[in-house]
Amino acid sequence: MRPSILYPLFAQIDTLTGVGSRYRALLENLCGNKVVDLLWHLPSGLVDRRCNVPLAQAVDGRIWTGKVRIVEHAPPKTKKHPYRIAVEDGTDQLILVFFKVFGDSIVKQFPVGAEKIISGKIEIFNGSLQMSHPDYVVDAAKPEQMPLIETIYPLTAGVTNKMLNRQIMQAFERVPNLPEWLDEHFLTQQKWLSFKESLWQAHHPQTLAELEPNTPVRRRLAYDELLANQLSLAIVRGRLKKQKGRSLANNGVLKEKLRAVLPFALTNAQQRVIAEIESDLFSDYRMSRLLQGDVGSGKTIVALMTMLNAVECGHQAAIMAPTEILAEQHAESITELCDKIGIKTALLTGNIKGKTRKLLLEELANGNIDILIGTHALFTEDVVFKDLAYAIVDEQHRFGVKQRLSLSQKGNLCDVLVMTATPIPRTLVLTQFGDMEYSKIDELPAGRKPVTTTVMPLSKINNVVEALVRKLQTGTQAYWVCPLVEESEKIDLSAATERFESLQQIFGTDVGLIHGKMKEAEKNAVMEEFKLGHLKLLVSTTVIEVGVNVPRATVMIIEHAERFGLAQLHQLRGRIKRGSEAGSCVLMYGYPLSNVSRERLNTMKATEDGFLIAEEDLKLRGGGEVLGTRQSGFNNFKVADLSVHGDLLLTASKDAALWLRQDPNLQTPRGQALRILLYLFEQDEVIQTYKAG
Ligand code: ADP
Ligand code: MG
Repeated sequence: MRPSILYPLFAQIDTLTGVGSRYRALLENLCGNKVVDLLWHLPSGLVDRRCNVPLAQAVDGRIWTGKVRIVEHAPPKTKKHPYRIAVEDGTDQLILVFFKVFGDSIVKQFPVGAEKIISGKIEIFNGSLQMSHPDYVVDAAKPEQMPLIETIYPLTAGVTNKMLNRQIMQAFERVPNLPEWLDEHFLTQQKWLSFKESLWQAHHPQTLAELEPNTPVRRRLAYDELLANQLSLAIVRGRLKKQKGRSLANNGVLKEKLRAVLPFALTNAQQRVIAEIESDLFSDYRMSRLLQGDVGSGKTIVALMTMLNAVECGHQAAIMAPTEILAEQHAESITELCDKIGIKTALLTGNIKGKTRKLLLEELANGNIDILIGTHALFTEDVVFKDLAYAIVDEQHRFGVKQRLSLSQKGNLCDVLVMTATPIPRTLVLTQFGDMEYSKIDELPAGRKPVTTTVMPLSKINNVVEALVRKLQTGTQAYWVCPLVEESEKIDLSAATERFESLQQIFGTDVGLIHGKMKEAEKNAVMEEFKLGHLKLLVSTTVIEVGVNVPRATVMIIEHAERFGLAQLHQLRGRIKRGSEAGSCVLMYGYPLSNVSRERLNTMKATEDGFLIAEEDLKLRGGGEVLGTRQSGFNNFKVADLSVHGDLLLTASKDAALWLRQDPNLQTPRGQALRILLYLFEQDEVIQTYKAG
């Protein structure tokens, strides 16, 4: 239950004065629907109205603030003309200009002879000073009403800065005095202010420098948020650890059989992570573990090896891939090996329907199928296992924490392994997967050839095509990846189709096209043609991004590479590392190319180390981009920014772990305060979800 002290902050925004139903919708889109959401809407700029030089020294285009006397009114001659009022401050005259004046309110607001303090932008027009529609006009007797520094917020059409300022200040008035949840010693050491004071200052910057994310004030707020995140994940993790699971300990007979038929020896890294996974599987608590390994590091065999533990114990295992193509690819390689050792597998995707599906489900329910491979179709309602003991999700980074949970609910005390090929920087592992144990394959199988990456402008496309013609004649296959345009499938598609058509002029029937708008079956058919070598060049949007394996494809051309995230480029490039021949990748960019973009492309050229690339991407573009989940329910921080607050995250992570060891039920005064923190940052939801799971 949310502590009552926080109720005012979690009221709906229309409980604030001045928020009607239309305005409410606008505000909701901009910040959120709760009062507290306004508080996290931090300023992006400020207008300094402190400049009070005499009018004679006012500067064109600058904000000027000062006391003036009203000299005379000049109403417009026609409706088209503006209303003008002459004012002066003893050094010079200024013309106030108003368009669309109704009634006589303006006469009342500016009585001739009266003194007012005004503020607005100065323009010099025909040699005289003008100000159209002053931003502020206050009585000379009430100078305190002039906001000398005006905080500027990110806005949206229909929400003015004045209104937003007013509402945010109202929201602020509801902030109670909250007990301090930070460690006292740490707080003094950091010289941070209290939460409330920090929040106040964050909304009242005095200088532009105070808008930077690394001011003490913003760091305090970021730390609070990160601490809430780390604390909730640590609590969940602790709970999962206590959940009873069942031990899949066994004699390893099946694994020995598999080893005997494997065409290669496992790398040290593969052996190590298998042991790490098994230490969980063999224990009697439930496993929740993340396995990271770069593209081509050999995660599939790790998955299979560990699934055999469930099978040998007489239970079932399942592996889920994000697309049908990948599920089929998994099915192919896993089934080939399983056939050799007498293990029954099956593939279940959305495509498998009717009678076949019914039969398959029967086999699954009576336990004839040992290992099920599929897409998320595998977790629909009607799929019932006889006894699922172990579920693996491949490329899980595309899904959120909550989907992860629905998984473990399928099985009876099911162990869960999440595999991802996106190298994830440490900070993101902590924030997105902090509820899980963590293994990493940090070594590629021997004999992998490096990929040579070149970076060149799109204007040289003809040279690239010429080189490609020669290359394809030698039996090599190639991918041609078309640009991502504002993440819109439609536009991506037209770019890809156009390129496909122009390449068809040159390569004829050797070139194929694959894109996200095609039906799965069509996609699979094209992919099959490419795998079989009937197609030599495959033009695509980013659908080939993950996992696809075609050993003869060792060349990749990426158009407008500057529009892709580094992690994504890395994934794409990983496709051409599977062959016997060294790969080559051409990153083509369009103009104008920003410095950051150039830097990013150079990083791609300089290294193939996915973890290095991911760290770089995080620095340059932020977390959501690295995970490829900008919109998909991933933990988007309100205040914290991992590209600047990474150091705080590590501290918060330790802080949370240490504290929970001391005060596991959050009973002490600090513990109680931390509970409030969890609710303040809405981490209670995470904890609730896990309770349900
Ligand atoms: P990913 O981690 O990208 O899913 P895969 O599991 O698809 O990688 O493995 C990529 C390729 O490497 C496959 O063809 C697989 O058979 C091969 N492979 C896996 N482990 C080894 C190993 N230890 N030695 C040699 N080849 C391996
Ligand atoms: Mg894989």
